[in-house]
Amino acid sequence: GEIRIGLGSCCIASGSSGVKEALEETLDSSGINVDVKQVGCVGVCNQVPMMEIHKPGEEAVFYTKLKSEDVGDIIQKHFQSKGFLSRFKSRFYNYAENLTFSDMPQTAGRYRANEEKTPIAEFLKGQVNIATEFRGLIKPSDFDEYKSKAGFSALKKCLKELTPDQIIDEIEASGLKGRGGAGFPSAIKWSLVQKAQADKKYIICNGDEGDPGAFMDRMLLESYPFRVIEGIIIAAYAVGASEGRLYIRAEYPLAVERIREGIKICREKGILGENILSTTFSFDMEIFEGAGAFVCGEETALIASIEGKRGIPQLRPPYPAEKGLWSHPTLINNTETLSLVPWILRNGSAKFSEIGTEKSKGTKVFALAGKIKRGGLIEVPMGISIRQIVEEIGGGIAGGKAFKAVQIGGPSGGCIPASMADTTIDFDSLKEVGAMMGSGGLIVLDESDCMVDIAHYFLSFTQDESCGRCTFCRIGTRRMLEILEKIKAGKGKLEDLDLLEKLAINTKKGSICGLGQTAPNPVLSTLKYFRHEYEAHINGTC
Ligand code: SF4
Repeated sequence: GEIRIGLGSCCIASGSSGVKEALEETLDSSGINVDVKQVGCVGVCNQVPMMEIHKPGEEAVFYTKLKSEDVGDIIQKHFQSKGFLSRFKSRFYNYAENLTFSDMPQTAGRYRANEEKTPIAEFLKGQVNIATEFRGLIKPSDFDEYKSKAGFSALKKCLKELTPDQIIDEIEASGLKGRGGAGFPSAIKWSLVQKAQADKKYIICNGDEGDPGAFMDRMLLESYPFRVIEGIIIAAYAVGASEGRLYIRAEYPLAVERIREGIKICREKGILGENILSTTFSFDMEIFEGAGAFVCGEETALIASIEGKRGIPQLRPPYPAEKGLWSHPTLINNTETLSLVPWILRNGSAKFSEIGTEKSKGTKVFALAGKIKRGGLIEVPMGISIRQIVEEIGGGIAGGKAFKAVQIGGPSGGCIPASMADTTIDFDSLKEVGAMMGSGGLIVLDESDCMVDIAHYFLSFTQDESCGRCTFCRIGTRRMLEILEKIKAGKGKLEDLDLLEKLAINTKKGSICGLGQTAPNPVLSTLKYFRHEYEAHINGTC
């Protein structure tokens, strides 16, 4: 038998380490011989600590929202005398007999939810796992297990059977676009770096995730370190880079630890270093820990930060593809983008491009948070609607309140009202309604949320994080914030709304990097869809 327990940061924050300790103590003291396997994030963050019991010839059983004191009963029930079963009257036994699901090939089994009857299967059902393939099944730092699940087979294929041009063609055919926010076609970026003439090239994996409510990169780095590393090496080979940096914010210590361990193991196994997999390709990489400035997610600021300078965005051109890290051509891709690469090369571009819409292919990972019944980390096919995510995956609004809006794309994104919940998740549709994919934060709001507060919250975040280089981003956002504060205090005037809008438009136009160009989006989208709430504050009717 085997007992799996998730130990991502969310799980640990909810007490999984204590549950694991209690589990090991119980097994030790009762002399039960069963493996305890530490797995990555399952994504069901609203139900952790979570434990999955596997016994040969039996269906898997899942327990959720566990406490250390629950463990003894569970172990006794599953691993001790059968006679005990008939006497067993714990709360676990009564739950969720109907929660079977056979449509989840990776973890088919039976859920018995602790505390409440929660259809976890519903949460997982509409998802497609590519970046999160084998979620909840594999131990993050187990090289052999990753390899046994076709890990590094894409790298082997690339190094031994494909030319760099063929790899870039495959990425182009897949339709992959960058998952970090802007949605730039990955193959164009790769090809620019490949064509650049230089004696040395770099690759950077951008894991500097700083949006409020977002934890996609953290989860991928913590749960699938080898997948991220494999994606980086494939991209490095395709563009001719010999050195890589993985930029991870220092606030993600577990991600740093697991990637560090992954790099060490890969060096020992001949996956990193000289003559990778006995070919002529040599490549190595190291971690760079970011100090937590949101603006360092912008690629030129990120490069400056690695170079030891202050993280301030630079005017482009030149683009990093021609003049990047230490003036060498540099490919910068987001963590999620690179996590998708091994799957695409292993399964073929056609299989990837079958998923999604005409212009947005594949899947997108979102951190689903806010006033939702079932929050967590989800990977959904492009083209799914906001309504499907909120109602089917998230189970609707918590506490019986009405669904009001979603804030998608973090502080750079926008608020989409519930009346437009049929908007599909793809790069173009979101832009059309005044939001953007961003890196993947999705915060659900209910009727009790004030949209002026929401706009104020996100704008104060970007105002704080502005590097101060551009006048509009530095001062324009400050003036906008003052207007919002005045309105919130009931001292606003109707003409303030026009000024707010004007400042927002000019800040977008007058900023040189994505931070300032998108910072006004939460204000503009709430003004567009919830102007009456601003007016109610001004008129004193709320
Ligand atoms: Fe800095 Fe803002 Fe200008 Fe970006 S837009 S460079 S964050 S001042």
